[in-house]
Amino acid sequence: MEKMAQMYEGKAKKVFATNDENYCIVSYKDDATAFNGLKKGTIAGKGVVNNKMSNYLMQQLEKIGIPTHYVEELNDRETVVKKVSIVPLEVIVRNIAAGSFSKRFGVEEGRVLLCPTLEYCYKDDELGDPMVNDYHIIACGWATKEELDTISDYTFKINAFLKDFFKKINIDLVDFKIEFGKTKDGQIILADEISPDTCRFWDATTHEKLDKDRFRRDLGGVEEAYTEMMNRIFGGNE
Ligand code: UDP
Repeated sequence: MEKMAQMYEGKAKKVFATNDENYCIVSYKDDATAFNGLKKGTIAGKGVVNNKMSNYLMQQLEKIGIPTHYVEELNDRETVVKKVSIVPLEVIVRNIAAGSFSKRFGVEEGRVLLCPTLEYCYKDDELGDPMVNDYHIIACGWATKEELDTISDYTFKINAFLKDFFKKINIDLVDFKIEFGKTKDGQIILADEISPDTCRFWDATTHEKLDKDRFRRDLGGVEEAYTEMMNRIFGGNE
């Protein structure tokens, strides 16, 4: 597969066209942003961690029947993925209260929720990614009822798998955000990334934060947290 012109540059990734119209190449950067782009910085080595972690998890998810955009890891930072049109929703699952959930509902960070929750935000930076419900999504045509059913079904399966996977390496999966895309033939597949940028990971024993909150909240040890997650997943073999 040949890398062609850059199609898009986002906050943390670049996307390139390839000589095959069904595939793109994603390139992960070390750039970090938070609070809708207000806070900017660099996390050395983050692109490598996010690329490898995301690819590994997507391959595991394929094995339990979740279709994903993953095709082939080219190198430390670059991966071939299926070309999709992104469903303009951030799909957020929470197992433990944190972040905006705690703020919005006055539920203290760390409270274990009685069941996993699902929420959607409409992806629009200018609007600040407002939270929306199923009716808003269907009424505005961002996804159909059938697509949303598929998305929520996949999402709870993904949560169950990831929760269990991370528990085995002594990590509590607090919450995470995923995105889905639609292929040319209308199939809904998991896209984007699963990484410390998009998940909250707490050490299950010490509750130490091992994710982007270290950057958002100026906690220090940002690079170390990403490396620690990489080591727990790959046992120092990557
Ligand atoms: N998240 C994300 N991108 C966003 C917003 C949230 O990846 O634009 C992730 C975030 O890392 C966390 C989860 O979604 O794991 C829930 O985030 P929350 O709504 O609490 O927002 P935050 O407190 O991060 O602003």
